[in-house]
Amino acid sequence: MTRTGIPARLLIVGPQGSGKGTQGARIAEIFGIPTVSTGDVFRANIAQGTELGRRVQAIIEAGNLVPDALTGEVVRDRLAQPDAAAGFLLDGYPRNLSQVADLDAFLDDRDEQLTAVIELSVPREESISRLELRAAEQGRTDDTAEVIANRLAIYERETAPILDVYRERGIVEEIDGVGTLDEITDRIVDSLEARGLVRRAAA
Ligand code: AMP
Repeated sequence: MTRTGIPARLLIVGPQGSGKGTQGARIAEIFGIPTVSTGDVFRANIAQGTELGRRVQAIIEAGNLVPDALTGEVVRDRLAQPDAAAGFLLDGYPRNLSQVADLDAFLDDRDEQLTAVIELSVPREESISRLELRAAEQGRTDDTAEVIANRLAIYERETAPILDVYRERGIVEEIDGVGTLDEITDRIVDSLEARGLVRRAAA
């Protein structure tokens, strides 16, 4: 039996606190592709005190969006690495319509396109309570009540509209993000398999 199937070029989208980071990492592992998380790249650069980290720190701490040009550069560099040639899972990019256009242009040049967009749906109150818990546990500086409200407002205003674009392309899988971690992972895997994506062979 061949294990080729449709390439896993995925995007996971959901409000902060939807669990997209956790589920994204699980899905990437199951389908044998790297996760490309812009938030993780920025946080690592801040922790290491790089030039990029210094440029984005204040923006991230306020819960605002890093400028598109800078974010696009980070993503293009990462997607150009050899491990992303056969597939990838984007987490946190694109986050607005202009980033969708940038990503389309980049992928078009490679004769590629996203094969599925996972939309994790979680009620607003549930996202907020998960974020407050994460703030208490991890002490993320962008998880204060004020910053959380700002990030959710930006999600609704700028990020939610990108789903309409992808919905028109017929690639959005809306997944109920309430349940146990395993239940949610199973829902996502089932929906991707139904689209012809194939898990990586067991080691
Ligand atoms: P995240 O971990 O995805 O919630 O990202 C944390 C923060 O990094 C966001 O609140 C933004 O400040 C910044 N960030 C991450 N991805 C992007 C993006 N695609 N565009 C602009 N800013 C971003």
